[in-house]
Amino acid sequence: MLRFTTTEQAYPQTRDASARKLDFNEISSPFNAADAATQASRCSQCGVPFCQIHCPLSNNIPDWLKLAAAGRLQEAYAISSATNSFPEICGRICPQDKLCEGNCVIEKGFGSVTIGAVEKHITETAFAEGWVKPVKVTRETGRSIGIIGSGPAGLAAADMLRRQGHSVTVYDRYDRAGGLMIYGIPNFKLDKNIVARREKLLKAGGVKFQLNTQVGVTITLDALRARHDAVLIATGVYKARELGIAGDNLQHIFPAMEYLTASNRKGLGDAVPAFDSGVLNAHGKRVVVIGGGDTAMDCVRTAVRQGAASVTCLYRRDRANMPGSAREVKHAEAEGVVFEWLASPQQFTGDAAVKAVTVQRMRLSAADEAGRISVEAIEGDTTTREADMVIKALGYDADDVPALFGAPELRVSSYGTLAIDRQFMTSLPNVYAAGDIVRGASLVVWAIKDGRDAAMAIHARLMSEVQRVA
Ligand code: FAD
Ligand code: SF4
Ligand code: SF4
Repeated sequence: MLRFTTTEQAYPQTRDASARKLDFNEISSPFNAADAATQASRCSQCGVPFCQIHCPLSNNIPDWLKLAAAGRLQEAYAISSATNSFPEICGRICPQDKLCEGNCVIEKGFGSVTIGAVEKHITETAFAEGWVKPVKVTRETGRSIGIIGSGPAGLAAADMLRRQGHSVTVYDRYDRAGGLMIYGIPNFKLDKNIVARREKLLKAGGVKFQLNTQVGVTITLDALRARHDAVLIATGVYKARELGIAGDNLQHIFPAMEYLTASNRKGLGDAVPAFDSGVLNAHGKRVVVIGGGDTAMDCVRTAVRQGAASVTCLYRRDRANMPGSAREVKHAEAEGVVFEWLASPQQFTGDAAVKAVTVQRMRLSAADEAGRISVEAIEGDTTTREADMVIKALGYDADDVPALFGAPELRVSSYGTLAIDRQFMTSLPNVYAAGDIVRGASLVVWAIKDGRDAAMAIHARLMSEVQRVA
């Protein structure tokens, strides 16, 4: 260990931008065994590991790095998977520059340990070697839990609850399990087969899936409550924020999820008429994407891969103050995306369909109450960008779950997200909630953490009831 003074930081090879923008395959190659061990050996085994403190799952990073450096990958996997239900997914799509790696103590001066890539290597080796096995329940508890939503929160909860011996059924309105990992995040960041592999494993361990089932439409929440001892709501947040500017209703202006879902479905081999007719396909078009988060980055990079004539990203703050991962911006720039910082759409113009965006120049101003830098318009400073397609990626708010589920007793926060107590229970007895629907739009790693914690709270409650009855 401690090789950071003599060994340079190295990430696995990333495919050249000119090649990778021609397809939707993942852009990073895996580490080979020798490189993974060498990179893991750069860790200085801190007594107070800031990497671990800043990992939402508190992964025992120094321990699995030490084992990986010694080539003891089976033990490394045992430790890594003890705190993370899907380490191969986090290794791929966590914004490590803001979490574990961004807080690695050797980051300043030497470059952080490449934690995410080693985590992915450990788990991919575990799959290849057959160390990742379905859950084998030795004693069924006879208790049953219904989970609404098959995103990372729902799947992590399903995994943990099944491990405790409960009967688990996951309900989802979509035809595939995975939530935003399937229909939001593009294949070039997270291959869909990686998510499907986990679904298969959960099924083999006895988790039941009831897809194409929209709670509130196909089945009521009351019916699920009658069917199960506990219900977990993990439905994510999908209400797209709006701009509310002139011309917003012109044709060829789309919310990000409509665009990304069409692209992901196409990649999965589905018939997507709106894509095939060209409406939701960026090919040959001048595309303008509005926003500076992960969703905006996924849109610009998808448009590049669809063969857009040009892709411009407008963001009202500057590069230093954007919410998305800096690493994703670098990838997008290398693939030919043009970023216009301090630029905000003022209006869309066109006849029936959008033809141009009027762009208002902005400048940074004082920080708001939360410490976030604000922006203000520079009076009279506008420009025009021609556009054949505009994609709005402005973030998401919670849908009105109490109304959608016909359950007005469900309490919500001032942000519209579901309110829960310390045991993840909502205002309805034995109805729990976790993931984005509680936290607001966040990250996969936080959804996994919430799903796992909610599962253990449900387990504790159900078991205490069993003991009381006994
Ligand atoms: P979701 O993943 O949204 O899953 C909710 C599930 O509930 C869905 O399958 C939905 O169909 C189902 N559902 C909803 N309503 C009902 C109903 N009434 N009945 C039945 N089922 C229902 N995070 C990262 O860490 N890294 C990234 O790179 C990243 N990129 C992102 C890119 C995009 C485009 C987006 C939109 C988000 C991205 N995120 C990323 C955020 C991350 O995907 C979410 O924080 C995470 O998926 C939330 O998990 P969840 O389980 O709470 O909800
Ligand atoms: Fe880093 Fe995410 Fe892995 Fe935690 S789960 S160690 S934050 S990549
Ligand atoms: Fe190793 Fe960096 Fe974590 Fe310290 S902060 S234990 S050097 S990975």
